Amino acid sequence: GIEHHQRLVDLWDTARTDALTGANNRRHFFDRAGQEVKRARRVEAPLSAIMLDADNFKAVNDQFGHKVGDEVLCMVARVCLENLREVDAFCRYGGEEFAILLADTDMATAKLVAERIRDAIATQTVQTEQGPVCITVSLGIATDSGRDAKLEDLLERADTALYIAKRGGRNRVAADTGNHGDDRSARK
Ligand code: GH3
Ligand code: MG
Ligand code: MG
Repeated sequence: GIEHHQRLVDLWDTARTDALTGANNRRHFFDRAGQEVKRARRVEAPLSAIMLDADNFKAVNDQFGHKVGDEVLCMVARVCLENLREVDAFCRYGGEEFAILLADTDMATAKLVAERIRDAIATQTVQTEQGPVCITVSLGIATDSGRDAKLEDLLERADTALYIAKRGGRNRVAADTGNHGDDRSARK
């Protein structure tokens, strides 16, 4: 009956959702992103990955407590979702880290999206019982032409770029220096 159906729908939602932020979980992200990479290869469309990590998040927990930290993570997830399209894949990748796969998106556009998310988070204030809390995030981007895109490779290069953003001082966007997407299309 309809109740049974609703329970199945709820179970399905739970199985693919991170309980704290409501973002997709990692497993569901890999399902969706894997399909998107296949599609990008087939139609030779560019695609970009963004890895996002909250800055100095340990200090947020230390200063305001874990519950406030949780609220801040929910804000980060919400702002990301507000700035993404239906076709993009998004998940909580780990503790205070999120992953994004942007369909049909070249490096220049991915930079705009990442910068928009960075700015939106930096200018948000989370009202908590401990008072107003602000944080920043760092983002790393990698792009592939789509012809020979590999999800793991894309995420790894985005993660390397994220590390560069952290080293560069945080609250910033850094792009993968390899720039494989651009190189390969230039060589065609
Ligand atoms: P960096 O700018 O280099 O990323 O510094 P950081 O402090 O964010 O990095 P670090 O890896 O040292 O600390 C991550 C912190 O994130 C520690 C961990 O307790 C916290 N964290 C991870 N998951 C959660 C969560 O679900 N809720 C809360 N409140 N904190 C979390
Ligand atoms: Mg981290
Ligand atoms: Mg961090």
